[in-house]
Amino acid sequence: MPQTDRSKISRWDLHGREHVVRVRRTGVQRTIGCDTCGWRRRVRFLPWTKAQEHLAQAHQATVDPAGSAA
Ligand SMILES: [Zn+2]
Repeated sequence: MPQTDRSKISRWDLHGREHVVRVRRTGVQRTIGCDTCGWRRRVRFLPWTKAQEHLAQAHQATVDPAGSAA
């Protein structure tokens, strides 16, 4: 069974546009970078949470394309 791709997180905004934040492991830290705006950040913990925060705040992208709909 294929493993879920955990190296990136994608969300859709209200206009149906996809925004992707990629996560790269660098030692104990992880570098997360947004494909849409070039935003980057180093985090040690909870990279997925930080990525979701950025997507929501910067792009109003909160819809998980793989998630369960309402
Ligand atoms: Zn961004």
